[in-house]
Amino acid sequence: MSNYHFETQAIRNQTERSQFSEHSTPMYITSSFVFDDAEDMRASFAEEKEKNLYSRFSNPNTTEFVDKIVAMEGAESGYAFATGMAAVFSTFGALLRAGDHVVSCRSVFGSTHSLFTKFFPKWNIQTSYFNVNEADKIEGLIQPNTKILYAETPTNPGVDLLDLELLGAIAKKHDLLLVIDNCFATPYLQNPIKFGADIVIHSATKLIDGQGRVLGGVAVGKADLIREIYLFSRNTGPAMSPFNAWVLSKSLETLAIRVEKHCENALKVAEFLETQSNVNLVKYPFLKSHPQYETAKKQMKLGGNIIAFEINGGIEAGRKFLNKIKMCSLSANLGDTRSIVTHPASTTHSSLAEEDRLEVGITDGLVRVSVGLENVNDILNDLKQALEI
Ligand SMILES: *Cc1c(COP(=O)(O)O)cnc(C)c1O
Repeated sequence: MSNYHFETQAIRNQTERSQFSEHSTPMYITSSFVFDDAEDMRASFAEEKEKNLYSRFSNPNTTEFVDKIVAMEGAESGYAFATGMAAVFSTFGALLRAGDHVVSCRSVFGSTHSLFTKFFPKWNIQTSYFNVNEADKIEGLIQPNTKILYAETPTNPGVDLLDLELLGAIAKKHDLLLVIDNCFATPYLQNPIKFGADIVIHSATKLIDGQGRVLGGVAVGKADLIREIYLFSRNTGPAMSPFNAWVLSKSLETLAIRVEKHCENALKVAEFLETQSNVNLVKYPFLKSHPQYETAKKQMKLGGNIIAFEINGGIEAGRKFLNKIKMCSLSANLGDTRSIVTHPASTTHSSLAEEDRLEVGITDGLVRVSVGLENVNDILNDLKQALEI
């Protein structure tokens, strides 16, 4: 399979056909698998043969899904999880021990941040943070017990970028594991392993499913590390369901074409927003005005589907804007066929004090748009009428 191009891998990397010669992969809705005899069972459990034993360990549908992501990310191996957060937690759970230290960008997914602040301290794992525009401070945070350097790029919800080449070089120099949450970019737009990442995580719930229907997560990377993650996970139980794996593997067949269109629509929306008088900052990686445009061009194929912009008039203007939206959805998800708008300061991050919000780049007027696959003119018209305030 490795000679095929990205789109072909996504379509042709398929579970071996059964006796029914089905063209597309069936669902293997079974919790366990049977053995021919005692010797077959012994050898399978001893891992002398590659056989499915139990769907918490592996299943033909989850294996097909993981194999595709492994090929798309240029990884050696992987494991699929029930959710993106299960992938994040299990990666840390498998690779860290009490007394270890993590260096992370401050702008990470909310639940990942809660994991660092509310749960890691219980296990005596400390985390130090750098701001997204202060990558020069990373080396100063590294301690003798630092094990993992962690980041997301582009970030949520600020749509800032981190230079993956720089992170890869720092991790290598200090012998750290570089773990990247590549959710916003998808394997189609960005491959962190090329820049030195050891593990790449995705919430498959977002653009990988792309239709807002199932939850899923995946971690891929170096085989020895994935082995640790696999052993941790097969004993703790965060496995992806075969049904979700079947859905997600099917979704991957159209990932390239969907993401191309998402990006085309998003660039048009970003360019439109830049012309609006009551919008004073538009952040989209492939806009020339993005502060890290050069980094975006270096590490991303296209700009993704998430745009952040600043609406004039702060919290009140943000709230009014949401109330005037007619077609786009007000929803916590992203990466759906349906365009989604959120105003973090009055919703997801309203419980944070203003100074804490500002530290992660959430200003009062920040609006995040996840640009969908509707006709772009309908998206533009909706945003335009909502901005007339
Ligand atoms: C949504 C998301 C997650 C968590 O994924 P779930 O599937 O919701 O558990 C992790 N990281 C990022 C960047 C996300 O956007």
